Amino acid sequence: MLNNLTLDQLVGRDDAHVVDWNGAGLNSQVLNSFKRLSSDAKKAGFDLRIASGFRSFDRQLTIFNGKARGDRPIFDDNGNVIKIDDLSSYDLLCSILRFSALPGASRHHWGTDIDVYDASAVSSDYVVQLSLKEVSSGGIFHSLHNWLDLLMEEDKSHGFYRPYAVDSGGVAPERWHLSFAPLAFIYEDAMSPELIKSALDDAAREKTLELHNAIDENLEEIYNRFIISPPEWAPVL
Ligand SMILES: [Zn+2]
Repeated sequence: MLNNLTLDQLVGRDDAHVVDWNGAGLNSQVLNSFKRLSSDAKKAGFDLRIASGFRSFDRQLTIFNGKARGDRPIFDDNGNVIKIDDLSSYDLLCSILRFSALPGASRHHWGTDIDVYDASAVSSDYVVQLSLKEVSSGGIFHSLHNWLDLLMEEDKSHGFYRPYAVDSGGVAPERWHLSFAPLAFIYEDAMSPELIKSALDDAAREKTLELHNAIDENLEEIYNRFIISPPEWAPVL
């Protein structure tokens, strides 16, 4: 098996495709390209690090449920915490999906997608937030991301692109999130609402999935709005 993941790997229930890289999980076929990107970053004065790489189904389920239950904050586009008490199940679901994937549908399951930051821009005890403020003009990671933009413009990003660069009302533009196109496109093609539903049904049966009725009723729409992400730019494969 060279390019293909098993169905369990696509939905984060098996991590045999993942290797450790300084504490983050990466698809073994992405590692060399990431090292090349990282070495270019170093030459440009950045210390490119991964804040979050591979994430399992269970980990994503914990994050998702935590937000649905109100144990973890859900933010709006301006970084303010949303009050969830008055929201319908559907609105709560959409608010969560703006910044967090449905378990089984996270691109982080594939090991091709990473959230990155520049360790040289902050002190060693800095807690990376992955916030809009950090990556916007005046933010501590703004320079790194401008450099990455330039690299992509010149098609020298070693296969990495930004799947969430455009805001079409689904996932918020997450500048920190990079994806490795040569594999991610293959995996994205292999995904389907049915595959995600089968992973989620298991969790729902075990009564560990919050909002499962709202998910069930709206899965097709959710899939097209939050899971499929046509990019503005991607490397020529
Ligand atoms: Zn991410």
